Amino acid sequence: MLKKEEIFFPYDNIRPNQDSLISGILGSFDNKKSVLTHAPTGLGKTVSILSPLMSKVKDKDVTIFFLTPKHSQHKIVIETLRLIKNKFNVKITAVDFVGKKLMCAQSNIDNLYGNQFYDYCKDVRENKTCDYYNNFKEKTNRIKKELLSEKLVNLNLLNVEDLAVISKNEKICPYEISSDIGKKAKVIIADYNHLLNPGVREHFLERVNKTLSNSILVFDEAHNLVDKCRDLLSVKLSSLNIEYAYNEAKRYGYEELANEIKKLEDIFNSLGRELPINEYESLIKKEQFYDEIDNYDELIVNLKLAVDDILEKKKKSFLFSIANFLEYWQGEDDGYVRVIKKEFYRNKPNLVLSYSCLDPSLITKSLIEESFMLILMSGTLNPLNMYKDLLGFKDNVELLEYENQFPKENRLNLIVPRVSTKFTLRSSEMFKKIAGECANIVNNVPGNTILFFPSYFMRDSVYDAFSLLSKKTVFREEKNMNKKERNELLEKFKEYKDSGAVLMGVSAGSFGEGVDFPGDLLKCVVVVGLPFAKPDLETKELISYYDRLYGDGWNYGYIYPAIIKTLQNAGRCIRSEEDRGVIIFLDDRYLSSQYRRCFPKDMNLQISNDPQDLIKEFFTN
Ligand code: SF4
Repeated sequence: MLKKEEIFFPYDNIRPNQDSLISGILGSFDNKKSVLTHAPTGLGKTVSILSPLMSKVKDKDVTIFFLTPKHSQHKIVIETLRLIKNKFNVKITAVDFVGKKLMCAQSNIDNLYGNQFYDYCKDVRENKTCDYYNNFKEKTNRIKKELLSEKLVNLNLLNVEDLAVISKNEKICPYEISSDIGKKAKVIIADYNHLLNPGVREHFLERVNKTLSNSILVFDEAHNLVDKCRDLLSVKLSSLNIEYAYNEAKRYGYEELANEIKKLEDIFNSLGRELPINEYESLIKKEQFYDEIDNYDELIVNLKLAVDDILEKKKKSFLFSIANFLEYWQGEDDGYVRVIKKEFYRNKPNLVLSYSCLDPSLITKSLIEESFMLILMSGTLNPLNMYKDLLGFKDNVELLEYENQFPKENRLNLIVPRVSTKFTLRSSEMFKKIAGECANIVNNVPGNTILFFPSYFMRDSVYDAFSLLSKKTVFREEKNMNKKERNELLEKFKEYKDSGAVLMGVSAGSFGEGVDFPGDLLKCVVVVGLPFAKPDLETKELISYYDRLYGDGWNYGYIYPAIIKTLQNAGRCIRSEEDRGVIIFLDDRYLSSQYRRCFPKDMNLQISNDPQDLIKEFFTN
């Protein structure tokens, strides 16, 4: 039997699923085996993974990297470490990293874009014009720096915001002092990008003086890993980019370069003309673009030189995106797809050339091979074997799957099959019908509801009819909302928790995952339709690539990703043992065994054509 003090478990009771997960982690650590775990919300994943790991690494030269896709997810890690530290009186050195710009102490950097900020920081360091950096480097400040480092370590495990404020007050660069603490840290909390991005990883590990072979990489919300890795290795170039880059080169006096970019535009246009009539996209070979460009490598060098110069004068350079794309385009064919596509941007035709990665293991394989062990956890890491295959794990991995622990009577999970969002059945009549079903549901919910649609187009097609029928205030998520806009909308929505409001969002949008509505802030989620990827050439190539590699391309490349999004949307409603709520899957396709078998068995799905009575009954009990 596990002893809490031996495994640093800070709570009174270890529940059976926690016991199993902790034992799995302890055994895997001893065998240097990786772990993939599907563990629904409420199991206590973070504590069940961190506690045993802390007990194992405390006197070993091994560091835990706790990596999350969003900064907001760092908080629970810090809180868990504090609990362990205070309960068992153990010294834990941990440091919390976000992007360098967010940690920077300078006050004039808000308007600098990603690369521009890095150039700025490099510049002020080299020219010794950043006092925060100078103070950090100054030998005479060694004692002050060490005292600050000691103070930061001894404070009760700081989050990055607090550390940044204290360092700034002491006039020391927060990023540099964090890197310094990182060298002594047993736990480093960071974003996925710090270790997934091949261009960032090496530099970051060097800064904190760690090696992969002595590092445990814990990936939280790991269902995101497949897409994150693919995105990191994918690039696009559009005719609009080229037009902006041409104008930029002209404006800054790069006449010759502007001529080269003009030639690029001609190549683009002739590739566009080669697209078969009535087709909006086509596969393209590397050579069809590469061979048309004279002095390919020289062009990249000239673009980069111009970028360096232009970034001294303005925030963003369009030439950079061309240089970046040209570099990527020379890459491998295996595991990638090249597509040329006609699109419209603000009613203007836009030709897009893309080089997209199909194979996430191109990033994760080396991490698996080189690290001490990987731990991937999520409430929707389902099916585990798919993640094992796609990310390139071999046999040295433990797969641990758990059921939802929340009381079954606190949730009503319904399939309402009276409508369909199937492409061939879409019509204004069908959209009105969907609006009617949605109104019927939300008008019977005593509180807030979120409706998730597969696309903004479908949401907008339903909106007019729905807003006439809904008795509740209706909010709409906008495309590409920034953090501030998102938070403002959420706060307004939450204010309606008693009278009830409706938020019309999109499955893959801002509120589809990673947003919590604890207590009675959200009573119902309706997932309208199935959020499948566009059935375009990239999706088709993805399916056939996974088919060739794993023999299950249709599920791996199309069905499971949509179901995972659906389950993430559904998961917004019930986040704790006390939460009660209704989750509705609105589409007749949810009846098909092809989709239903992908749902966790513990969902207890019921089918109803008249959900209003069940909803009323659920909320009156
Ligand atoms: S050295 Fe530190 S404080 Fe100075 S610009 Fe860079 S990140 Fe900001």
